[in-house]
Amino acid sequence: MSMRDERLFKIIDKEYQRQNDNIELIASENYVSKAVLEAAGSILTNKYAEGYPNARYYGGCVYVDEVEELARTYLKELFKAEHVNVQPHSGSQANMAVYNALLKPGDRILGMDLKSGGHLTHGYKLNFSGAIYEAYTYGVSAESESLDYEEILRIAKEVKPKLIVAGASAYALEIDFREFRKIADEVDAYLMVDMAHIAGLVATGYHMSPLPYADVVTSTTHKTLRGPRGGIILCREKYAKAIDKALFPGIQGGPLEHIIAAKAECFFEALDPSFKEYIGHVVKNAKVLARELENGGVRIVSGRTDNHLVLVDVSPLGLTGKEVESVLDRVHITVNKNAIPYDPLKANITSGIRVGTAAMTTRGFREEEFSKVAKLILATLKNIHDEAKLSEIADEVLTLTHAFPYKPF
Ligand code: PLP
Repeated sequence: MSMRDERLFKIIDKEYQRQNDNIELIASENYVSKAVLEAAGSILTNKYAEGYPNARYYGGCVYVDEVEELARTYLKELFKAEHVNVQPHSGSQANMAVYNALLKPGDRILGMDLKSGGHLTHGYKLNFSGAIYEAYTYGVSAESESLDYEEILRIAKEVKPKLIVAGASAYALEIDFREFRKIADEVDAYLMVDMAHIAGLVATGYHMSPLPYADVVTSTTHKTLRGPRGGIILCREKYAKAIDKALFPGIQGGPLEHIIAAKAECFFEALDPSFKEYIGHVVKNAKVLARELENGGVRIVSGRTDNHLVLVDVSPLGLTGKEVESVLDRVHITVNKNAIPYDPLKANITSGIRVGTAAMTTRGFREEEFSKVAKLILATLKNIHDEAKLSEIADEVLTLTHAFPYKPF
């Protein structure tokens, strides 16, 4: 078995080159460690293990049981959770499993509007969450661009949802889970918190933890938590059986034990004091990036950032999110276009971009470098038709990134 498709591996090499060359500002991405990569690429991929540790439907699970138990033990410790499930293949599947455990088709859910920063799985009409359940949404205040808990309570009283979702994909302020608990209690709803974006901050105390307030918490492991692509569910003991059953056999078959091993490594790394130090830099760097961009003439949505991301309104420069994403790509800066609250433009155009500091902080960027990043972004946006200038900026970006290489091999 010595076959190898060189064409395929050449493409992977080119993607490695791209990741190494570019200033990676996508707020949901990160660079994993060599150990996480090793576990994810390990021989555990060969193993079937339907079921849970010590209750599998396949033989030969002795070592994958050990791996999965290790992942569960670390994860419980990291977030002080009563029960955890490390098998969701993704954040979307973690959310699907929770709905499957607590709801029936047609039940009402209330989540954050996609346009205001929510995720597809929080009730978007083209997603399973909007198709299977009767989904209602809350947004942010038009003035402050922040969550208005009184307004969410008003909507919840009107809608009477069976489950409320708190959490977001593009929201730069701290979310008050205590307030969400009060709202859920007032209308007798379950509270699910999707902490996918802020999990690394929660793990290290840089964001309030949802664990004391939520019935169930879901997350991805690949954003600020800096692990492999995947999902997790954390819940109170009383929901343990229902959640586990809803995931397997409810919506998944065999777990990805190689990814569960990489999750175990990720949780192990996140428990180390150095991870808290890292997240401290992520948060500081985001503040620098927001301030410097604002000084250069763009508008920061909600006026500031409390976490790892900055939502930027680029319309003051007469540009759209789509144009900005595209021109920044040309100078090796990767961002994504993103709707801003009450965005007058369509979702594939948008008035904004979303930028995050988790990935480049992993590569060693600190405040000085992020200040430079803001200057490079602004220079690009002010010279979008000047080819010579763009090429100069691209060279500057490469000099900067090559001084902070990503070396996972
Ligand atoms: N929840 C939130 C808040 C997210 O931002 C995301 C991904 O961006 C997800 C869930 C879904 O994760 P996945 O892409 O792994 O399905």
